[in-house]
Amino acid sequence: MTEIKNIFCVGRNYVLHARELNNAVPDSPMFFSKPTHAAVTANGQTIALPGDEGSLHYEAEWVIHIGRAYQPGLHPEELIDGMALGIDFTLRDVQSRLKQKGHPWLRAKGFRNSAVLTRFIPFPGLDTCMKTDFSLRINGVEVQRGNISKMLFDTQTLLDFCARNFGLGSGDILFTGTPQGVGEVNDGDTFTLKWGPDILGECTVSLKEHGGRL
Ligand code: ZN
Repeated sequence: MTEIKNIFCVGRNYVLHARELNNAVPDSPMFFSKPTHAAVTANGQTIALPGDEGSLHYEAEWVIHIGRAYQPGLHPEELIDGMALGIDFTLRDVQSRLKQKGHPWLRAKGFRNSAVLTRFIPFPGLDTCMKTDFSLRINGVEVQRGNISKMLFDTQTLLDFCARNFGLGSGDILFTGTPQGVGEVNDGDTFTLKWGPDILGECTVSLKEHGGRL
């Protein structure tokens, strides 16, 4: 896998997704992060995820890889050197309990294998990305389709916000939020992530073996 330094993620960055979970639309980007131990590349294998902690949801997302140190004024085309698609796996019941208590989301979002990534491809530029849909199929049926032109906060805003608050440099990746259509993961589901017509990655999940890593 491409070396990863930090995994930043953005919540509620598509209006229709915020609404499907009855969440308010944020007025500034909502960031969280995952440990690098959460990252795993989908290359056709079976990936173990927790099956005994309530509802587990998939969230398909556009992921960007940063190729150089951030400086104010640099544009996405100068900062981003690769892109992938990812699945931000989320323990939804755990997340709801944490939200009620005002606790951090780490337990719901940061577990091992919760940041599934396809292979990275060279960054094709924002114009091309805004003309290319990404999609997620489960067992051959499309369940999510998104386009980054629909993001609430655009790429430049996310990069500037991230850099200002947390720092941003070579090796960092950003999960940029999920479009509508999130839902339940079932044991044995096969997930296929597509960029336009191209399959970038695929994996099957096991909900029975998370304790002992596959
Ligand atoms: Zn997400």
